[in-house]
Amino acid sequence: MLTYLFVIALLAMVATKLWLASRQVRFVSAHRGAVPGRFTQTISLESHQRAADYTVARTRLTMVEIVVGAVLLIVLTLLGLLQWLNTAITGWLGHGLVAQLVLIAAVGIITSLVDLPFEYYRQFVVEAHFGFNRMTRKLFVIDLLKTVALGVALGLPLVAAVLWLMGRAGALWWLWAWALWVGFNSLVLVLYPTVIAPLFNKFEPLDDASLRQRIESLMARCGFAAKGLFVMDGSRRSAHGNAYFTGFGAAKRIVFFDTLLSRLSGDEIEAVLAHELGHFKRKHVLKRLVVTFLISLALLALLGWLVQHVWFYTQLGVEPSLAGGNDALALVLFFLVLPVFVFFVSPLGSLTSRKHEFEADAFAAGHTRAEDLVSALVKLYQDNASTLTPDPIYTAFYYSHPPASQRIDRLLSHA
Ligand SMILES: [Zn+2]
Repeated sequence: MLTYLFVIALLAMVATKLWLASRQVRFVSAHRGAVPGRFTQTISLESHQRAADYTVARTRLTMVEIVVGAVLLIVLTLLGLLQWLNTAITGWLGHGLVAQLVLIAAVGIITSLVDLPFEYYRQFVVEAHFGFNRMTRKLFVIDLLKTVALGVALGLPLVAAVLWLMGRAGALWWLWAWALWVGFNSLVLVLYPTVIAPLFNKFEPLDDASLRQRIESLMARCGFAAKGLFVMDGSRRSAHGNAYFTGFGAAKRIVFFDTLLSRLSGDEIEAVLAHELGHFKRKHVLKRLVVTFLISLALLALLGWLVQHVWFYTQLGVEPSLAGGNDALALVLFFLVLPVFVFFVSPLGSLTSRKHEFEADAFAAGHTRAEDLVSALVKLYQDNASTLTPDPIYTAFYYSHPPASQRIDRLLSHA
């Protein structure tokens, strides 16, 4: 039964994803000829067409990725690669913790190796073609090595602890694993701004005194406390601009990409920041965290139930060992197969996210001038070559942010 369910869900997911992507390509191409009415004053036909071409190029690449990802999944599960790996590893190392960690690492390496050519192509062909890539090949390799080292330093102890719990903590191991997961995530959130992010970028205090003052007065108006304002050298990798918050409680930091500061006026930066403050003030960050933790609890409970059944393994192409030590196998299977089923509920997440974006925009319009956020958005859309004419169904499925025209309509209605 599970085999059929899995194959049907996988085929349905691939078909839906390809259908959505081809809709997006067709819709964007069909609207390539003219700048949409409300943007004719601010966006040239040339940059509109560049955005269309960029969107189409990226979407086509994801179509190839979708197919390759599905083939890899079938090869790993039903076609027996995972079974073969498991037999080889247990034959060599037995059924202990080390063998289980090696299995998980092996699957991680295989999926990363398949993913790597796409990452490379995206950065050095697509992004480079549209003038966004600022990364050297050397930096690409250094980033890769740092990511692997970080994955080993943080991921390995976590996975080892989860495997230990699965073997020793009894029927409610998943509850303990969940508590561990929540603790681990909180630790990463605390470490991210001061330890992890600086491994990849330089952060310098914002030294523009007049901008600092404006931002501090905005924060005071909104009743918001943050520990520092930083500028990040995003331009080392990409010409895309951004701003974000990071950290917890009073240790929060505000980070601006240098690429954003160089393009927006003081008023516009203030408006963008007010939008980000809106996410905090409307408790979006906290809500997202709570929902994530609740969902992971439900999923771990599900896994706690699945691991007890032989069909969970056999129906997905692997034979559990009677000698025990199948926990790594269960973890790998679960996290390989899960995205196929989660895909069909993912539009709910996008919908919530777009609702939050509207709320943050409304907050910004209440504390700064809505017109400033509108002009900042137009600049960001233009600079990032984001299409102004996405396909509506594609948008509903994937977009975490509402399309530009909808956001601007709402913002101007606040003004
Ligand atoms: Zn936002």
